[in-house]
Amino acid sequence: MSLLGHVHQLSEVIGPRGSTTEGEAKASDYVQRQLSALGLRPERQLVLSATSAYAPFILASGASLLGLLLFWQPQPVGAAAACIIGVTAFASTLLELTFTSNPLRWVIPTGWGNNVSAVVPAAMQDAKRPPVLITAHLDTHRTPLLFSSPGWRRIFRTIMPAGLAGMAALNVLFGAGIFSNDQALRQIALIPGTVVAVIFLLMLQAAASPFTNGANDNASGVAVTLALVERLTRQPLQHRDVIVVFTACEEVGAYGADTFMSAHRRNLRGAIHLVIDHVGGLRGRDFGPSIIRSERFLRRVECDPRLVQIAESVARAQPELRATVRDFDLAYSELSVGAKHGLRSLGIIGLTPEGDLPNWHVRDDVIANINEATLERTVEFAWCLLRAIDVEEMG
Ligand SMILES: [Zn+2]
Repeated sequence: MSLLGHVHQLSEVIGPRGSTTEGEAKASDYVQRQLSALGLRPERQLVLSATSAYAPFILASGASLLGLLLFWQPQPVGAAAACIIGVTAFASTLLELTFTSNPLRWVIPTGWGNNVSAVVPAAMQDAKRPPVLITAHLDTHRTPLLFSSPGWRRIFRTIMPAGLAGMAALNVLFGAGIFSNDQALRQIALIPGTVVAVIFLLMLQAAASPFTNGANDNASGVAVTLALVERLTRQPLQHRDVIVVFTACEEVGAYGADTFMSAHRRNLRGAIHLVIDHVGGLRGRDFGPSIIRSERFLRRVECDPRLVQIAESVARAQPELRATVRDFDLAYSELSVGAKHGLRSLGIIGLTPEGDLPNWHVRDDVIANINEATLERTVEFAWCLLRAIDVEEMG
């Protein structure tokens, strides 16, 4: 099957693949059949996941607003209750943003997804080094207003700091309200309260918007990874097993990658982790893959410096692949999860020369907007990178 053939099957024939939905399950079945056809023995792993990326933030901002309501009730009992609720919501949000279990996850709706993985063993089994893990997610995101235009995307970038600042300001005022009955405190609280209320409404809208077809995000990465597996079955690495995982439930907080890495902690000690996500480019624009040196969501996560060096030298040796090295500041990817598990992570993500993600979480994320040349360059680049990693000792 060609690269675009896989993208067609996933994004058109199966279509939207929301986390924990029927569509995602069909995508898991699809990659499982593809791996079996290559003579591998794919394994499925159940993933318990949130069903919505936005539910935790609806709950947290809603709790903060409930705090504001209590703050306007007779004091100091109202302020004390507001403070407890507000601080719990704030702390839970910080944990949620670093993919860590927290009270919000105890109450939001959950469902099941399926990771599908396979191993292509190293040619030389006796002098083996830690494996290479490749992850590419199967699921697709929704189409929130916040992603719908460059203007809205600018607002999206301010949402997280604004929301955290609004919740923190409310908590300070709630705390002060326990000791003071000053009416001015209640009135000032309406300002951060308004910010939190706007975010609450935007999160509700996001949670109700339809899913994308996900041709670029991430049928492209799945297609590239399947092409790499096909090559590896004919020509495995010498020193490292390559484990590929087609992950479920990335778009709601990277649950699939986290579940896999938790379950395979021992095998993955010292492993190299490549994330292949959103690599379909943009029809009409001719660029290559981006090597992600670091990514910033709540905090900056650095990729493995030695891996970045190797990737840079591959890019220099093959300028026709148009690979560039960049920092990624828009969102999280699975590389944050790899780094959390102590893996040596590196991301391959197809940013435009301006540093944008083409057709990100919008209805236009369809196969007609994919650039086949970018897909092919990404396969070639990733293949050369795997070969280059194979000849390195890397400690
Ligand atoms: Zn993605």
